Amino acid sequence: MGDSECKTANVKVSHNKLSLSGNQKENKDTEKCNVKSEGHTVEIGGHYLVQRCDNSWHIAEVIETRLNEQNGGKQEYYVHYDAFNRRLDEWVEVDRFDLTHKVEDHGHGLNKEIVAITTSDLSDGTDRKITRNQKRKHDEINHVQKTYAEMDPTTAALEKEHEAITKVKYIDKIQIGKYEIDAWYFSPYPEEYGKQPKLWICEYCLKYMRLEKSYRYHMSECVHRQPPGKEIYRKQKISVFEVDGKDHKIYCQTVCLLAKLFLDHKTLYFDVEPFVFYILTEVDRHGCHLVGYFSKEKESPDGNNLACILTLPPYQRKGYGKFLIAFSYELSKLEGTVGSPEKPLSDLGKLSYRSYWSWVLLEILRDFKGTISIRELSEMTSITQSDIISTLQMLNMVKYWKGQHVICVTPKLVEEHIKSAQYKRPPITVDPEYLRWTPPKRVTKVQKKS
Ligand SMILES: [Zn+2]
Repeated sequence: MGDSECKTANVKVSHNKLSLSGNQKENKDTEKCNVKSEGHTVEIGGHYLVQRCDNSWHIAEVIETRLNEQNGGKQEYYVHYDAFNRRLDEWVEVDRFDLTHKVEDHGHGLNKEIVAITTSDLSDGTDRKITRNQKRKHDEINHVQKTYAEMDPTTAALEKEHEAITKVKYIDKIQIGKYEIDAWYFSPYPEEYGKQPKLWICEYCLKYMRLEKSYRYHMSECVHRQPPGKEIYRKQKISVFEVDGKDHKIYCQTVCLLAKLFLDHKTLYFDVEPFVFYILTEVDRHGCHLVGYFSKEKESPDGNNLACILTLPPYQRKGYGKFLIAFSYELSKLEGTVGSPEKPLSDLGKLSYRSYWSWVLLEILRDFKGTISIRELSEMTSITQSDIISTLQMLNMVKYWKGQHVICVTPKLVEEHIKSAQYKRPPITVDPEYLRWTPPKRVTKVQKKS
């Protein structure tokens, strides 16, 4: 994601948040919160049984506390559920704590297996022993993070820094258009906005506000009903706008801030000029409603055709992510290049790409008679040869023979895969006839790999 360009913004954020972590540490030693119930107090750094929104009880660590002015000045506690992904960290009131019995401080060595047995529904009641495979499955489903000990030292160090920076997610809700959406991760909104429990965001110009009344006033006077830039695709209610980060800097920065609320490892917030943003909207008689977007480097030395991708939570699991992926490949086809998404991909991103690549390749292989090479597949689809090979390997359709990869399929195998739900036709596809776009003239162009 244009790493070198992003460093300045990133470092700035790190300093801010790291000094904050320093304060937190002091708090931890000195501050005790005043909530007492059944003889126990809620303390920062302490572990308690806390009820999640699905009514299940989990051991959680209290990380921070605040008075929520937007919620009648109530005391709230920011908790991290042990052995769960930080996405699930949240602000809760004291009534969600079970203070009737004390949870011993498990520190960092809390045994995940214990949590898995008490909280998961893996057990069928006959055998309480969890196999390695079941454990892996449980961890994947619940997004359990690797412990530092399971990581290589560099990853562990980066993760530790990342966790310190993103520890407290102050903004836990946003209102955008008709949706109130829970935030998943920390996002570096400017100081006074970044500490609000809830932000109000104009769904058209993306201006963010702290107060509902400012939002209501803004909505009555905002003249925008669609993203800036040029509409380059419109079919029925689906519309895509191309927005240049240089021409519409503030808008693109606010897209990034908004996206960060839902992405764990995003690093681009402020240096948007080297990127183009493709904004996906759903159109009705009121205007163009933001669904998601992807960004793309104007010049990618690594041949990336997509830098960052997001579908807003209310629109997830409807096929929009795959639409955006397909769209990025349609642009590469018009450019006459191959492309690949920037790494690392999030776990959700990885699943979407795997599924898209499989679908595209299976569709071609099903209808194809004769022999076809990986290079030809790449030219037809703009998918890189290495992405094609890894996809075919996963589908068990490639053999390594005499020093090269050879596609090896039977119609039966293709049919079997196509029938499986994982590789079914995406619900919303890109219709190239509705794409009104010519590649910009660039001085240097990434050569088509052959
Ligand atoms: Zn507006």
